[in-house]
Amino acid sequence: MNLFGRVIMAFMPITPKAFIRFISRRYVAGSELEDALRVMDEMSSENTSFTVDVLGEDISTLEGTKPFIEEYNRLIEAISRSDIDAHVSLKPTAFGLDIDYKYALKTLSDIVRKANESDIYVRLDMEDSTHTESTLNIMEDLYSEGHLNVGVVLQGRLFRTKDDLLRIAEAMGEHADVRICKGIYLESSDIAYTGYSDIVNATTDAVEIALDLGMYVGIASHDHPIINAALESLQTRGIMPEKSDPRNPAPAVKPGKGGGYEFQFLLGVRGDVRRRLASNGHLTRVYLPYGKQWYEYSMRRLRENPGIAWLVAKSIIMPWTNRR
Ligand code: FAD
Repeated sequence: MNLFGRVIMAFMPITPKAFIRFISRRYVAGSELEDALRVMDEMSSENTSFTVDVLGEDISTLEGTKPFIEEYNRLIEAISRSDIDAHVSLKPTAFGLDIDYKYALKTLSDIVRKANESDIYVRLDMEDSTHTESTLNIMEDLYSEGHLNVGVVLQGRLFRTKDDLLRIAEAMGEHADVRICKGIYLESSDIAYTGYSDIVNATTDAVEIALDLGMYVGIASHDHPIINAALESLQTRGIMPEKSDPRNPAPAVKPGKGGGYEFQFLLGVRGDVRRRLASNGHLTRVYLPYGKQWYEYSMRRLRENPGIAWLVAKSIIMPWTNRR
């Protein structure tokens, strides 16, 4: 699979930007906030919630955080004015995590406080493994400042994830809320599973551990084995749509959330699976990115994990594998 991805990547530099824009329209709402609001409005009949992400490039100075701070403020205001059920997702490095921890904590604290005024939840996306520790530290510091509307992401592929789940459960108790995904970054075999089956098993285990620790769990995968295993884990524990969470202790009930878990999907990926889950009563959430730097962002993601190029190509060549 990665070989195909690499071949596609080799042609990327000579592929017209307009063509890449055409392809990416399925996965990125557009370059402006208005595009994100429009796409969420267009999807209003799909019975789903959203988490909105502002795309951007790496920043190298604290000055570079300013456009993100401004845009997330605009985004939070726009969501609170609308009747759209949306949270926000953000990358802590866009707020200076790599440059000045205290500055990043202060700016994130302001964003999380503002979001809380409108019952908007803030998810700290997880970047590559060099940021796992500092992102967890930021989340714990935000929580100890009294912010309850903030959660993090853990990546099934990392060996450390099981310990991190215990750490979060201990630090946040009934307010612990994690998104669990495979992890998009290709990590070394010293610290992560690298084979498909191992990653699937580890991600499935992480979902089970999080459920057993009484956490609110965002199951973020389009992969059938993970979704099916999660459905089975939920059923075994009696956690079902429209029923109160039987776990003791159960996660705290929060605005805009389901009863203890939700399924999360990327915009444009396996919409048919998402709609099926929603029609069976499960809360679903679409991760919806927008931003002026969609091109730089998409190219960087593809370089980091050329396997994605193959998934995108597969959606075009074999549309039945990934229905919108
Ligand atoms: P895969 O086996 O990769 O995908 C299953 C099938 O879904 C594929 O065969 C294909 O048909 C389709 N598919 C999946 N992805 C794509 C795609 N991009 N384009 C086209 N088709 C696709 N990773 C992080 O490291 N940090 C995060 O904070 C993070 N947040 C996420 C938030 C959400 C809501 C989701 C859904 C994923 C997030 N990820 C994050 C990415 C995640 O870690 C995986 O890399 C990604 O979801 C692909 O893994 P999969 O479990 O869907 O399985």
